[in-house]
Amino acid sequence: MTDRRLLALLGAPVHHSLSPALQNAAITALEIDAVYVALWTWDELVGPFMRSLALAGGGGNVTVPHKRAAAAALDYASEAVRATGACNVFWWDDTRGLCGDNTDAAAFRTAAEAVLHRELTGCRVLLLGAGGAARAVVHACRGAGIERVEILNRTRARAEALVEDLAVPGGVQVLEGREALSGEPYDLIVNATSLGLDPSDPLPLEPGAVRAHAILDLVYGRDDTPFVRAARAAGIEAVDGRLMLVEQAALSFGKWFGRDPPRDVMLRVVGLGNTP
Ligand code: NAP
Repeated sequence: MTDRRLLALLGAPVHHSLSPALQNAAITALEIDAVYVALWTWDELVGPFMRSLALAGGGGNVTVPHKRAAAAALDYASEAVRATGACNVFWWDDTRGLCGDNTDAAAFRTAAEAVLHRELTGCRVLLLGAGGAARAVVHACRGAGIERVEILNRTRARAEALVEDLAVPGGVQVLEGREALSGEPYDLIVNATSLGLDPSDPLPLEPGAVRAHAILDLVYGRDDTPFVRAARAAGIEAVDGRLMLVEQAALSFGKWFGRDPPRDVMLRVVGLGNTP
């Protein structure tokens, strides 16, 4: 019998994920007896896998497309899970049972404030997309006291459902189409669509078409995304999703091991070694 703790990323697909490299680098740096693996799985196995991993002293993360199934499997869901309907980290607690949180929301706020060089409070945000990541963004914006969020999504009904489900009181508007984009500058544009994952994807928006102080692309790869490159070429400060990825990974690490991981180690793994 080993005391080694097993943690897993549950998703489909998972082979491209940077999470195992990130988490194992931090585990090794802190000399913890644990291992983190990626497990390609499907919806009906998500709950049973979560429970057995957590009960055995481990835990893990959940990614696309299983975050909703993960939320439904929990004994205890955090406020962020209840608000977004999505769970991306789970662990065991002897009193509460199978616990889950959504660390994407808090991680988004950290990454957004890094690219803005200020707090989100009072900002005007243009949000592209209305899927699971967009829900975490809106939840974070609600908590940060932003002035206004305008949502532009290919399927307008999905954006309207997001606003209804999250019970957003005022300050959030679903745009009819690109022609409804404001002439006034946005403090921040967030790409929460999946455009950019495939090199042949069009840009989610031409950065020159709208005035903005900063752009945060939630999409990430091993290098800067096409949207980030286009934003910088248009003179707009931009970062991709690697910073948010590291932050949600660091917050997850804290749930399992009760301590902070070395963020500098994690940042180096994703090629952001010089990020403060
Ligand atoms: P999702 O729930 O599947 O939502 C996908 C979104 O992209 C929807 O708004 C969808 O619009 C839009 N979309 C897809 N194809 C499109 C196209 N051809 N043209 C225009 N819009 C399109 O996915 P998600 O979980 O929200 O993830 C979105 C992205 O965020 C992914 O790239 C994911 O890797 C990234 N993400 C990053 C982090 C991080 O830590 N950096 C965390 C979470 C997610 P419709 O509603 O019209 O289908």
